[in-house]
Amino acid sequence: MEGTVQDVVIVGAGIAGLTTSLGLYRQGVPSLVLESSDTLRITGYALTIWTNAWRALDAVGIGESLRQQHEYIYGNVTTSLITGRQTSDTSFKAEAKFANHEIRCVKRKLMLEALAKELPSGTIRYSSKVVSIEESGFLKLVHLADGTILKTKVLIGCDGVNSVVGMWLGFKKPAFTGRSAIRGCSESKACHEFEPKFMQFFGNGIRSGAIPCDDKAVYWFFTWTPTSQEKEQEGQSI
Ligand SMILES: Cc1cc2nc3c(=O)[nH]c(=O)nc-3n(C[C@H](O)[C@H](O)[C@H](O)COP(=O)(O)OP(=O)(O)OC[C@H]3O[C@@H](n4cnc5c(N)ncnc54)[C@H](O)[C@@H]3O)c2cc1C
Repeated sequence: MEGTVQDVVIVGAGIAGLTTSLGLYRQGVPSLVLESSDTLRITGYALTIWTNAWRALDAVGIGESLRQQHEYIYGNVTTSLITGRQTSDTSFKAEAKFANHEIRCVKRKLMLEALAKELPSGTIRYSSKVVSIEESGFLKLVHLADGTILKTKVLIGCDGVNSVVGMWLGFKKPAFTGRSAIRGCSESKACHEFEPKFMQFFGNGIRSGAIPCDDKAVYWFFTWTPTSQEKEQEGQSI
């Protein structure tokens, strides 16, 4: 493989890398996806997928199978953590103002597996950590941690927040937003009996929420953004 020139190399087999590769494949363009991990990184919990992302999943041909495994969320309810009162209740049902929205909470593992399953075998090359990139005429030379050098006409960076491709392109280092988060998914044997609604709670720098994926799984999260005063106190206590 080292001597041959690839048409398209994508760095990162996350959601972005696999979707890009599948989109290209559907258009008849093969690609090679380089992933640093030795298997598909299916850990994590779930993501709330909105209308535009469903269009993208339909375009690459995995929308229908994911719809069958995740329930349609027909409402968004927000509650203040300060007053305890409900602050909004938006319906996405057919007759409602926001009826054209499609929202489902998709398990990350199922989405990654659905994307990977549709790709021709050999598309994803695991244990292939990109460490540097060089330009050689019209080609890019992609250096891997194991010493392999791959040549490609097109290089696409989908390697997440500390992207090697991004750094090579001169992008700034990622900035810390100050927000911390804890996420999880509860899976029960019996039906959880939550309505298919996105429940969100806001106040005092906290945003938390829960949203059913299907009738047995509920994805939940807590995020916290400290005020500038709290940040200062935190800095003093270190
Ligand atoms: C393991 C994991 C679990 C997650 N769980 C959740 C969740 O439960 N809920 C949620 O909302 N979001 C979650 N996220 C975040 C969310 O999936 C991503 O932030 C978002 O989808 C962006 O996807 P991405 O494909 O751009 O980047 P990423 O998902 O970060 O994927 C980048 C991929 O590139 C690979 N990579 C990085 N550097 C290199 C390199 N130098 N060479 C080769 N490969 C490289 C990484 O191993 C990774 O597989 C998770 C992300 C990860 C990686």
